[in-house]
Amino acid sequence: MGESLSTKIETIKVCHSLLHNPKFFSLLLQIDTDLADQMHACRCACGGVLHRANYPRKPKACPKEVLGNFRSRWSFCCNLCRKRSTPMSVRFLGRRVYVALAVVVVSVKRNKTNAATTQASEAIGVPERTITRWRQWWLHTFCATPLWQAQSGRFMPSVELSELPQSLMARFTGNAHEAMGNLLRFLSPLSVRI
Ligand SMILES: [Zn+2]
Repeated sequence: MGESLSTKIETIKVCHSLLHNPKFFSLLLQIDTDLADQMHACRCACGGVLHRANYPRKPKACPKEVLGNFRSRWSFCCNLCRKRSTPMSVRFLGRRVYVALAVVVVSVKRNKTNAATTQASEAIGVPERTITRWRQWWLHTFCATPLWQAQSGRFMPSVELSELPQSLMARFTGNAHEAMGNLLRFLSPLSVRI
């Protein structure tokens, strides 16, 4: 309890507005760049050197101002054993074409009270069947991931699973940039294996 309904709606509205905020996307790019730099600074387990071998991406729901920087999923390839090393990402969640942020905020359940705010997600053109699939993922697959199995105990009281992802969003506090940035960091292990 505690959080009033109007605050919740306000939060959802702010989170949706992030989808149209190039500054927030630049922040995500910076986080991914840092994660990639940390990996690049290490050697492959075989002792080889990691060379950039990014994957091309055609991201959807990405503001055009930052699209150029979102056309690559950072990745590396060892110069000796050719093994791939792909750092975690806050920009992409697995192989989905939509940016990770969209997979979170567009999955928020629509109801009478937040109908107006969630229209913003319709503006980015995610097909209804995709949204349904994402919601199923949150309700069934996400809960079974090793990440959630290991981390769910951190949240007290426990996160209401039938209300995912908004019940998880509500646990990350601070201003919208910090809260969503931290939530995407929390989810980033899922970006390398789902
Ligand atoms: Zn190697």
